[in-house]
Amino acid sequence: MYSNRVPGVRIPPSPPFKQKSCCHHSGFFYYNNLKILVDIVKDRSHTWKKIVAEAVRDPAELCRRLEISNENVDLNPDFPMLVPEPFLQRIKPNDPLDPLLLQVLPRKKESAVSPDFTTDPVGEHGSLSPEGILSKYHGRSLIVTGKACSIHCRFCFRRHLPLPEIEKNSISGDFCIDPETIATKFEADPTIHEVILSGGDPLMLSDSQLQDLIVHLDQVPSLQRIRIHTRMPIIIPQRLTENLLNVLGNNKRYGKAAKIIMVLHVNHPNEIDFRISQSIEELIDSGGLLLSQTVLLRQVNDALPVLAELFERLINLGVIPYYLHQLDRVAGATHFEVSHKKGCDLITKLRTQLPGYAVPRYVREIPGEPGKVLLK
Ligand code: SF4
Repeated sequence: MYSNRVPGVRIPPSPPFKQKSCCHHSGFFYYNNLKILVDIVKDRSHTWKKIVAEAVRDPAELCRRLEISNENVDLNPDFPMLVPEPFLQRIKPNDPLDPLLLQVLPRKKESAVSPDFTTDPVGEHGSLSPEGILSKYHGRSLIVTGKACSIHCRFCFRRHLPLPEIEKNSISGDFCIDPETIATKFEADPTIHEVILSGGDPLMLSDSQLQDLIVHLDQVPSLQRIRIHTRMPIIIPQRLTENLLNVLGNNKRYGKAAKIIMVLHVNHPNEIDFRISQSIEELIDSGGLLLSQTVLLRQVNDALPVLAELFERLINLGVIPYYLHQLDRVAGATHFEVSHKKGCDLITKLRTQLPGYAVPRYVREIPGEPGKVLLK
């Protein structure tokens, strides 16, 4: 598939997004891609941990960088801001309503109170076992690998986890579980066929930590699949080092190997630029099944053209849109909620525009239910 190789970089034979046929545009496009590829090589000389450590954490600084007013911004939010440079680069300056900015900028609206929006909207707090296992659904178990993320999404349903741990782990990616104890637990329960790695973001673990965990899980005879829920390849594509791809690579693991499935969290087509497309192609080349999940967010993606473009772009890259989530009603995120009716209308219209396999399931998580509830 790839003809030219620069160490660590794949050069596609054709532009990744369709351009209108026009010779001076295609020349410009080629030059632009070349420039981005040079940037990728430079970027990979930095480690992803350095990028997380150097992320912008001061809302006033973010406003300065993007040349927007901080009038409606919470400059000292309870849930700290965290915006790494590769994501910041995709936000348009001078646009306070940029859909990527709205996902990360703490606004004064977060202090709005509603009795329906709570600190534990999906009823998880207190259900975590001492080993870090959350058992909600039949045949599947979720492992909370840590509480660190590469970005802080303002609508996150886990935004009320204790702050010192979030802040500390955002840099260190500390491992808070023991792979051996976890594997022993699953060996004792052969009804579990799939584990879901969640967090925080499981790709905040180091390669060796992740490998250690996968190796231990692979030794459990009844486990058939390891599902990794992550936003990292979308936020910091530099995380996809050759070593990590080898750790995850379904093609490269031998013996009894549980299939690795990755679910990418992506909310807007502007999140998928050329560089992110490259990351996704690398993941697909490593032999994995890629699904996506999206949270329906007011002002960010609650419009038909935006969702249609997002899901079509994902399908074209080989990612199957899996879930469109109704917002979990977490305190601080009231302003992101889209009505159930509008969500259903959007899904109905999407079905008239896209093939069935490109339209995700519109779901909501309701505490106590045996699975995600399909919204109609
Ligand atoms: S990446 Fe996921 S877990 Fe982390 S803040 Fe965003 S929504 Fe929450």
